[in-house]
Amino acid sequence: MNMYDLIMKKKKGCELTNEEIQYMINNYTKGDIPDYQMSAMMMAICFQGMTPEETKNLTLAMAQSGDMLDLSEIKGIKVDKHSTGGVGDKTSLVLGPMVAALGVSVAKMSGRGLGHTGGTIDKLESFTGFTTALPKETFINNVNEIGMAIAGQTADLAPADKKLYALRDVTGTVDQMSLIASSIMSKKLASGADAIVLDVKTGDGAFMKTLNDSVALAEAMVSIGKLAGKKMAAIISDMDQPLGNAVGNILEVKEAIDTLQGNGPKDLEDLVLTLGSYMVVAAEKADTIDEARRMLEETLRDGSAFEVFKKFVVAQGGCEEEVLHPEKLPVAQYIEDVVADTGGYVVKIQTEEIGRISLLLGGGRETKDSEIDLTVGVVLNKKRGDRVEKGDVLATIHANDKEKLEQAKKHIIDAYRIADDTIAKESLIKKIIV
Ligand code: URA
Repeated sequence: MNMYDLIMKKKKGCELTNEEIQYMINNYTKGDIPDYQMSAMMMAICFQGMTPEETKNLTLAMAQSGDMLDLSEIKGIKVDKHSTGGVGDKTSLVLGPMVAALGVSVAKMSGRGLGHTGGTIDKLESFTGFTTALPKETFINNVNEIGMAIAGQTADLAPADKKLYALRDVTGTVDQMSLIASSIMSKKLASGADAIVLDVKTGDGAFMKTLNDSVALAEAMVSIGKLAGKKMAAIISDMDQPLGNAVGNILEVKEAIDTLQGNGPKDLEDLVLTLGSYMVVAAEKADTIDEARRMLEETLRDGSAFEVFKKFVVAQGGCEEEVLHPEKLPVAQYIEDVVADTGGYVVKIQTEEIGRISLLLGGGRETKDSEIDLTVGVVLNKKRGDRVEKGDVLATIHANDKEKLEQAKKHIIDAYRIADDTIAKESLIKKIIV
């Protein structure tokens, strides 16, 4: 077998066998297949596509290229959740404690943010002392005792994907559905859960901008997971406006705490209840989605979800006082409102732009080694469909740099489209694929 023949085979549109895919991935990871040959293969896949069988085999080969986590010491059915990334997406912070309060084991590997979407670990590091560098025994003990632990992704989780993703990024081969689905799912399968619930975002602030593309990606990932023997569900949710109101690390943590205490924004609460219901049923803690939803609502009312959150943060070194009194978390130096210069209805919020404003203020990473400022960001006061009068506050900016503050104000005005006629409210949940 040699790589030249495999490239020719794919170029002609033929199906690669499992042995051929394994040969290609194993030798590429070892460095025995050069980047230029792999680039040609990726481009051939972009033009010819992959069958579901090839996609599954590619995913498994990449998952098995490094550590496969063994979570067998954790009791019960392990359920993982993955979001394809969005603006203001703090779902994991709320969802994990809610399902853990119902006895679901949440053993999660999370990443840091890059670009206009934030990462769960960055948000959690808002708490003084919080760490995700947990020894395996602590990780497992915390899940067994508290119900939840979040660790940083180890370097050796799906290393083939890491290398291939970096190559695709610079060769114009990222946007192929099978390649995206196998990349995401390889990391999920290596993380060792029995069931996976996917939060696939769709719209302006998401990786997938159209509903058709989001559905295709969700179906591809659900199919891979099922072929690999996992219970799967994908919820496709709206990212044509930020989720909740807060965008920026500490601001989002505060909103997550409000939500855990039953005082969160409606859209965020609705999304976590929907995702959570599928997780609770997958973990066999409820028989139906409706029953699971009622149980989850109760965890917000009776304080049990917030209690798990507090224990989880403290067990990972975070400051309890800051969880109990989030107003003690650091704040930015300048906090200023942006007001509407015209009246009407909010008909569009350029969501990716809001993420970029947070990035501009220092709240996100331009490159993977950038330092981030946890205090900065934007809190939206008006969402799509809301009535606005001239002079009303559209959003509040939290900044530590006067010049960036002024730039951010201009960008906020540009990101809001206000028109005379209102628009129909879009539903948050677009489609569910099981
Ligand atoms: N995220 C991933 O992890 N992989 C892709 O290919 C695209 C987005």
